[in-house]
Amino acid sequence: MPSKLSAASKWDRILAQQREYIAKREKGYREQALKLYPWICGRCGREFTRANLRELTVHHVDHNHNNNPPDGSNWELLCIYCHDEEHAKFESLVQYGSHSDAVIKWL
Ligand SMILES: [Zn+2]
Ligand SMILES: [Zn+2]
Repeated sequence: MPSKLSAASKWDRILAQQREYIAKREKGYREQALKLYPWICGRCGREFTRANLRELTVHHVDHNHNNNPPDGSNWELLCIYCHDEEHAKFESLVQYGSHSDAVIKWL
């Protein structure tokens, strides 16, 4: 039991660090993208307000999170559901590239 617990909490900590890292990196381009584009999901057309804005995410069109041109040409605003689908599609294409990529994903 204790070993199971510690393994779980270790994994939790890794995930928490991962999220924090992504949140920091994401903050910059998310704010820019939200200024550039209307708050509408590019797939399902759902509209967003300040109240539910956290469900609107920035997708990288070429799936390269380091490619953030200031004109926003690599960004697309997607709701979390459409974003998930978009990545599921992509991941079935690359068939588990590296472990770190699979963990980092978009969130
Ligand atoms: Zn959507
Ligand atoms: Zn994405």
